[in-house]
Amino acid sequence: MRSAILNRFVQKVAQIIQTEGAACFSLGVADNRLHPQAVVSRRDGITRDSLGHVDLDTTLPFSKAVCDALARKGPVVLTEATRIDELTVQPPVLVMPIVWEREPLESEEEPVQRPVGVLTLWEKRGGQYDEDDYKLAETLSGQAAALLVEEQLDEFDDIQAAFSTVPVGLMLVSATDEVLVANAAAMHVIGLDPLQGRSIQGIDYGEQLTELVAEVRANGQGTATASFTSRNNETFAASAQMTQEGQVILAFTQNPFSTAAEELTGQVAHELRTPLTVIQGNLQTIEVMIDGGIQPEDQEIIEEFISTALIQSARMFRLIAETLNISRIHAGKELELEVEEFDLIEALNQILTELADYLMAHNLDVEAPDELIIEGDRGKIISIFDNFLKNAAKYSDTGTTITVRVYEVDDDHVAIEVTDQGIGIPPDALEKIGKEAGFRTDLSKKQAGGIGLGMVYTRRVTEAHGGRMEIESTVGEGSTFRSIIPKRQPEG
Ligand code: ADP
Repeated sequence: MRSAILNRFVQKVAQIIQTEGAACFSLGVADNRLHPQAVVSRRDGITRDSLGHVDLDTTLPFSKAVCDALARKGPVVLTEATRIDELTVQPPVLVMPIVWEREPLESEEEPVQRPVGVLTLWEKRGGQYDEDDYKLAETLSGQAAALLVEEQLDEFDDIQAAFSTVPVGLMLVSATDEVLVANAAAMHVIGLDPLQGRSIQGIDYGEQLTELVAEVRANGQGTATASFTSRNNETFAASAQMTQEGQVILAFTQNPFSTAAEELTGQVAHELRTPLTVIQGNLQTIEVMIDGGIQPEDQEIIEEFISTALIQSARMFRLIAETLNISRIHAGKELELEVEEFDLIEALNQILTELADYLMAHNLDVEAPDELIIEGDRGKIISIFDNFLKNAAKYSDTGTTITVRVYEVDDDHVAIEVTDQGIGIPPDALEKIGKEAGFRTDLSKKQAGGIGLGMVYTRRVTEAHGGRMEIESTVGEGSTFRSIIPKRQPEG
């Protein structure tokens, strides 16, 4: 949207100064290039897309003129036809630096001036630029500076929107490690207001920020993440990302567990809706049947409807319990087990019935003995199946096979195992699943919504029973999730 404004602005500049063409470039400090942001050209049809980046490290006349103009913070005019990237524009070509000015933060400081781009005009009607044109171009370049900086802010908003969690502190750091913009949440995290204009090194944070910025710069691309502790001992996840212009975006999200806990509310509401729809639908149908007078042949249907309604209400109870337990884990409490003796296969059948709709589009392959009596918290062990199965369905294509296996590993242990033919998990992510709350693989983020808590819960439940969780996976082929638990629980 902002680029449309910038385009109209450049059009206006060409109109006012009466040139055939005009362009506004932003300056990439890190790559020392100009990036075209808006271009208008009445005759030669040059557009923003037909102009590539302009390297400033060359001796070409346009590059030299730009460097000159930036150095002297004033206009430079070229009197010959000039190449800009692959295109040639007609003289006279005026290059005006776009300088962003900011008021000093402290009274004794100088105002900060930073070149952010250049405005270029070509082919002035009637020949030459005069003093009035220069003045106009200078004033207009001031406006362009504001627009360019706002354009960065817009990008910033997009980035902010890309984070699903709030509050997110965001800071944009220049190539020279100066804070260009920071939102209120970032000021809250850092505990300094304003942040803008300060150097990252100057923000005393036990080098947490400096190191993060240095790390992402060393990588050259991608992101770097670290945990960040604020002065009042709140933990945030801080991540740094390089922009094309060599700036660094720093984002702070709350401790992943608590953000995930916030998202959990949404997820829970969503999850509870499915069983509730079944229950409500079944009850309404039964009501209609009763109104019409129950016929003997209705008996069977009504029984089935009541039984599925009961199954789904049991599921709702379990989902609610799971949510409460996740909050308890979050609060640092241990999981409490309600141990009983039960048939693991019957538990498996229950969850398969509960998830029937969920698994309908997949081929289901069940390999299990007829009966397998164990001791454990039945509801929580059903949650293990539940989470493995839901993920298997979520992270694989419909029509593929999901295999559930229940077997005795040795005399004292049983395995609960779910295999899918889905997207798989990269080797370096295997370690994190179920250990880092909120962790999701990049592959899975593209695929389906998730919050990265189910496996943490599953692992905790498994370990609370004295068992262990294993994951095997090949990217693009599929994954196997396995929970190995003892058949007996210690007394008390
Ligand atoms: P959620 O699925 O809600 O994000 P989980 O804790 O259940 O949370 O899983 C954590 C992450 O592990 C998922 O986001 C996904 O990246 C990965 N994962 C879990 N199960 C599978 C699977 N069957 N196939 C591929 N990736 C999986």
